[in-house]
Amino acid sequence: MREEEKLGTMNSQGGRSLWRSISLIVVINGSLLTWLILKPGSLHFYVSVETSIIAVCPLLMLPYCFSGLWDTLRRSTRQAEDSPSICQLRWVPILLGMAIISQSIGEAFFIYYYQFFNQAPFPSLEDAAYLSAYPALLLAVLLLTRRRLPIVARLRILLDGLIVMTGVFTFSWYFILGPTVLAGGPTLFAQIVGDAYPLGDLVLICCLILLSTRSRDLTLRPVVIILSLGLIANVFADSIYDYRLLQTGTSLGAVTDVGWALGYMLYGLGAQAVRRVTTRRASLSEENEGRALDMPQGWLVLLPYVLVPAVGVLYVYTQYSEGDPALKGGVLLGGIVLIGLILVWQYFAVRETIFSNKKLYSMQQELHANNQALGEANTRLEEQAAQVAAAYEQQRHLNELKDQFLLNVNHELRTPLTEIQGYLDLLREYHGQLDTTTQTTFLNHAARGCEELRCLVNNVLDAIRGDLLGRVPQCADLSVATVVCQVLDLFEPKKRQDYHIELEIPETLTVSADEHYLTRILLNLLSNAFKYSPPHTSVVVSATLSGALSGAPFREADSTPHVCICVKDAGPGISSADISFLFERFVRLKRDLVGSVRGTGLGLYISKQLVEAMGGRIWIESSGVPGEGSRFCFTLPSSPPGI
Ligand code: ADP
Repeated sequence: MREEEKLGTMNSQGGRSLWRSISLIVVINGSLLTWLILKPGSLHFYVSVETSIIAVCPLLMLPYCFSGLWDTLRRSTRQAEDSPSICQLRWVPILLGMAIISQSIGEAFFIYYYQFFNQAPFPSLEDAAYLSAYPALLLAVLLLTRRRLPIVARLRILLDGLIVMTGVFTFSWYFILGPTVLAGGPTLFAQIVGDAYPLGDLVLICCLILLSTRSRDLTLRPVVIILSLGLIANVFADSIYDYRLLQTGTSLGAVTDVGWALGYMLYGLGAQAVRRVTTRRASLSEENEGRALDMPQGWLVLLPYVLVPAVGVLYVYTQYSEGDPALKGGVLLGGIVLIGLILVWQYFAVRETIFSNKKLYSMQQELHANNQALGEANTRLEEQAAQVAAAYEQQRHLNELKDQFLLNVNHELRTPLTEIQGYLDLLREYHGQLDTTTQTTFLNHAARGCEELRCLVNNVLDAIRGDLLGRVPQCADLSVATVVCQVLDLFEPKKRQDYHIELEIPETLTVSADEHYLTRILLNLLSNAFKYSPPHTSVVVSATLSGALSGAPFREADSTPHVCICVKDAGPGISSADISFLFERFVRLKRDLVGSVRGTGLGLYISKQLVEAMGGRIWIESSGVPGEGSRFCFTLPSSPPGI
């Protein structure tokens, strides 16, 4: 059988026998109560029957107390078998059984004296038996309350216990203990024994308080409840007995005597419940042992203070009633001690609150710091995510450029190569048949193709290596008009005739620039104007001193005068969204990528590098409307300065 199943069977068997015992207790004590209420027959008769029941019935519970005696003794010699707490628990039923036996022996002596002498001598063996039950009970409860609680909880329990003790002691002093002490006795020994009863009851109340500390242990809760009920019944019966004895001199056959039978039978039931707990615990692992409950919450915290107003009422009562001053003084003293204890309790409560507040505050601070750190980490993460996104975007853009570049270069290399190959094929095929002029023309075409190819390869390599300039610009004073005319001459005459070329350049305007660079820039811009705008449209080349030119986006940062040179065409124009990308490497407009116009997307990039190397700026102005064309402008330092 599995362990849980075994435990389940044990539980159900134990539960059934517990309910059987409860039924027995209810039946017996119900009958006894009826007997005491009806009081049948003479006083002697029903008191004899009552005491016999009180003596015998608790003994019915003894099997539960001593059923594990042999096992307990055997295990106590071999401690390693059980955990220390289980070892201790095994002794509890035995001690409870001893208390029951003591009580029953006391009752037996009472019956004996009552039957043969009508009254017991005082003190007698009967008192010895009764009183010996108190240490057994105290020891049983102490063994049950071995578990140590946190210091704060223990302190609170101690104070609560002291408050309850003081309250009960004050009442006991006024009604029972005080009168007993004051009544005195025939001998000192008789006086001591007489006082031992109410003191014993105080010990039982002390047991109750100790038990309440134990009630935080979930598994022992039923035991605690049963034993607490037993103690209450016992103390109640004792107190009423003492009180009646003091008031009337006799206390035989009172209804409250049922408290003794009930109390001791409940101890027996408690012993049975403890046995059940020890059996369960022995079969469970050590960690599962005695799960603790939380500290009492809500109204339960106020329970110990119920006695405080009661003592107040008692004090007022003593002021308006006749009584021994010692008894009244005792009540006053009890009240003062109670107030003192409450003040101490309050002091500790305030300290605990301050301590908890501080702890809470530091936790809040820690939480705040953690939150802040988390926030910072989040921000960093967001930044990193943005960086990754930007890097990804850049990578994607580079990939696009690469694809575009491969496409362009492939096309651009093939075109002049095809031209060269075509002319060389013609020359080989018609070798000797061609006249010298045709041969020269073919060779020139092939040579131009080679030159174009060389330029193209150089441009591409320079752009890739980022080594376009190759050298420091050699600036000289150059006439803008002259350089522009020289560049125009580099184009085929037919090309020049296809367009209305207008020059708006003052003859005197000079710039400080590298002639080779300036030629290359103008060549790029003019060839773009011829390439991208339809024939028979106008191409305007203008030059002005910077600032005089309307629409110039900025004046140069330093105060040096600049010349602004512009090439304007009447082509398809460029949209403002595309303008910002056109000065990057290998960028061509989509429409030209699929169109018939050849290009590598390097001309504007190279022009920008060259212009900036000479201290100028370059930009594009265009409305993007086809036919309105575009204007490519760049600035260069004017020469000589100030002109
Ligand atoms: P390429 O002309 O060899 O393609 P460029 O760098 O000179 O390279 O020009 C980049 C792109 O800018 C061209 O492919 C074209 O799409 C666009 N572009 C340049 N100049 C003009 C112009 N005058 N009119 C319209 N589009 C132009």
